Amino acid sequence: MNASEILPSCTLRPAEPLLPFVSDLTLSFIVPTVGYWLISGVYLMFELFYGVEDYSPLHTPAEKLTRNRATKSHVFYITMRNLVIQNALGWVLARRAGPDLYGCEDRDVAVWAMRLRSLQQWIPSLLALAGIDGKSAASRVSHSMPALAQVLAGGGQAGEFSPFLARWELSLAHLLYYYLVPTMQFVSGYMILDTYQYFAHRMLHQNRWLYRVVHSVHHHLVVPYPWSAFYAHIIEALAVGVGSATLAFTLTGMTLRQGMWFGMGAIFNEINSHTGYDFPLSPGRLLGTSPIFHDLHHQSWGVKYNFGFYTLFWDWLCGTLWMEDEHSMRKYAEGRAMTEKKMANK
Ligand SMILES: [Zn+2]
Repeated sequence: MNASEILPSCTLRPAEPLLPFVSDLTLSFIVPTVGYWLISGVYLMFELFYGVEDYSPLHTPAEKLTRNRATKSHVFYITMRNLVIQNALGWVLARRAGPDLYGCEDRDVAVWAMRLRSLQQWIPSLLALAGIDGKSAASRVSHSMPALAQVLAGGGQAGEFSPFLARWELSLAHLLYYYLVPTMQFVSGYMILDTYQYFAHRMLHQNRWLYRVVHSVHHHLVVPYPWSAFYAHIIEALAVGVGSATLAFTLTGMTLRQGMWFGMGAIFNEINSHTGYDFPLSPGRLLGTSPIFHDLHHQSWGVKYNFGFYTLFWDWLCGTLWMEDEHSMRKYAEGRAMTEKKMANK
């Protein structure tokens, strides 16, 4: 009996849309756009009602009012334009990939169970390297621990797929299929974003033309704020934003729905990086890329450092890491003092 004969038969069909009045494809671009303003709105609400200035140690209100070289209305216009064009391009690219197909989940779980069964075939050989006879060991535990006996013996009939997959094999396969694989898709997706964005961002600074024409737009903001995260030249918005997301989505084989939540995570990280707030439970702090880390990059004296967005890894490896320290805090203090002086002389 070969593998295809024992797999449950199934028919793939397009998934029912999450909401009845809009396709998942369209929804997957509406949600991140709405999410961008919702997340930004939450920060704004905190700003207005809960005095989060206590968590904003870097810039004074006077700096927020005077140091940026782009007005808030211009930032709003450019951000909206970028979101519309990015989503339109993303929609066209995703449409070519077709809808998510469902209906073969049991079969996919069985495929994973058979992969586990195949892996077991290596166990007796590995045990033999340590001088252990797997089959003898299996016979000793066959009554008390049948699942372990099966593994020690190489998965039963070595070299053949049994039509009777063990309950534990199916349970583990279920866990892999529904939880571990999607988690790995998300983790590897963010690693791809981190890598792509570090090198693309660094190149935008390294090449004079690219910096002057393209990336300097984003650096009009010396004091970034939550909803300024997507304020950038359209070339940057497409080449870095859409480019990195498309690569991560494609290489990890995510479904549209996964892509939707993945995109939301990326947007949250972008917004959080631009808040300038230092909340104790900020998710970025877990990986080191707190808002302070990125705010430092927005300062004229820190612009050649901290190109990463998700982890410190590439900055650390490539020698561009500058974590908050006495020197940077002194520089921030000088900026605050200079602004106060200018305001007083007006
Ligand atoms: Zn930059």
